[in-house]
Amino acid sequence: MKEWETETPVIIAGGRDCFIRDIRGRWYLDGVSSLWVNIFGHTKEEIDEAIKAQIEKISHSTLLGLSNIPAIRLAEKLIGLTNSGYGENQAAGGAGQDRALSRVFYSDNGSTAVEVALKMAFQYWQHLGEQNRTAFLSLNHAYHGDTLGAVSVGGIEIFHKAFGPLLFRTFKAPAPYCYRCELKKTYPDCGLACAEQMGEILRAHHREIAAVIIEPLVQAAGGMIVSPPGYLGRVRALCRECNVLCIADEVATGFGRTGRMFACQHEDAKPDILCLSKGITGGYMPLAATLATEEIYRAFLGDFRELKTFFHGHSYTGNPLACAAALACLEIFEKEDTIRSLGPKIALIENWLREMADLPHVGNVRNKGLMAGLELVRDKTTKEAYPWEEKMGWKVAHQARDNGVIIRPLGNVIVIMPPLSISIDNLRQLLRVLRHAIISAVS
Ligand SMILES: *Cc1c(COP(=O)(O)O)cnc(C)c1O
Repeated sequence: MKEWETETPVIIAGGRDCFIRDIRGRWYLDGVSSLWVNIFGHTKEEIDEAIKAQIEKISHSTLLGLSNIPAIRLAEKLIGLTNSGYGENQAAGGAGQDRALSRVFYSDNGSTAVEVALKMAFQYWQHLGEQNRTAFLSLNHAYHGDTLGAVSVGGIEIFHKAFGPLLFRTFKAPAPYCYRCELKKTYPDCGLACAEQMGEILRAHHREIAAVIIEPLVQAAGGMIVSPPGYLGRVRALCRECNVLCIADEVATGFGRTGRMFACQHEDAKPDILCLSKGITGGYMPLAATLATEEIYRAFLGDFRELKTFFHGHSYTGNPLACAAALACLEIFEKEDTIRSLGPKIALIENWLREMADLPHVGNVRNKGLMAGLELVRDKTTKEAYPWEEKMGWKVAHQARDNGVIIRPLGNVIVIMPPLSISIDNLRQLLRVLRHAIISAVS
């Protein structure tokens, strides 16, 4: 805080496409999608118009006891999207129907989407008479938000340690962080070894565990840690084998970032509860959704006096302006065939990462789709990290900013997460500036 007080703040006054402009009239390339939320750039006409049109009708009414048109339309759309693109779960019939994500609970940010998921999983088991299911299983290096429930299932020491005494009980499984494998295995076996450790905890404690919560494929805030092939699918299967709910936190990975609409689709790992936020409105408005299966929903049905309802709600739940923005965003995905257009951009990033990997002090590069991380190290042979006090990531970010690119590092990991709509030319420019910034910071 003290240092921040001495810096000159950059104050943003406008934006267009993948660029943002400060009050001095300087333009910057938005290299982290305004903190992982922006999808189609700024002042995107269709989203602007959708919000304006909704303002003419109504800007907000409550979802407590009432509903509204954009919230209903969006729920329908989300259910369609989150149940498609899977193999095994497509089978019709009893179990297939029960396992469909068929119910949508709105809130207004990623952390609340997670709080809702945790409370829902807990209360589900209470309704089933399993009173001992009071713990959760989460991963080391996990990030699920900054509210206390989300922090309880978090695993990033620097963010979460200070609040330790306030948190509830969790089991922690190793993160599939292959570059620094806790199990000392080699890629890609490390992934299955990691899942196996989770399996051991689950087999020993499944009667105390309400759910496993995971960021599918990419532990984003933990340092863009990409899990090896097979890991996610195995975790999903383990939850089923041990009869524990699976919560997928796709707040960061959702809406195309990994190269498919949702990360879970890559490994046919449809969860029981799904958390969405960040990109849902194209990065325009605060909105989140927690989706649950019909099976979970049904456990909350009972006579009035049984008090089985899900006791949770927020003032701005299902805000019509935010839902209108989200509907417009999802329409653009269809109209512009966005997911299909990502291939060449992903290839460009992957080629760049491969080249960067040869540089001294670049310890590891990793990506899934348009989510990429480049880990800087003091010593490439021993993988010795730069001490965090050296602020290597920030040195790179400041250098990049001087050259017109905004990024935000995670410790020693340089994060690249541009809007999905970025042009090839702008992406090239982003990577060129970053390469220069990295070389000058480490030398
Ligand atoms: C950002 C993030 C959150 C928290 O979302 P907020 O809107 O910042 O509260 C939760 N989970 C994941 C995976 C995230 O990346």
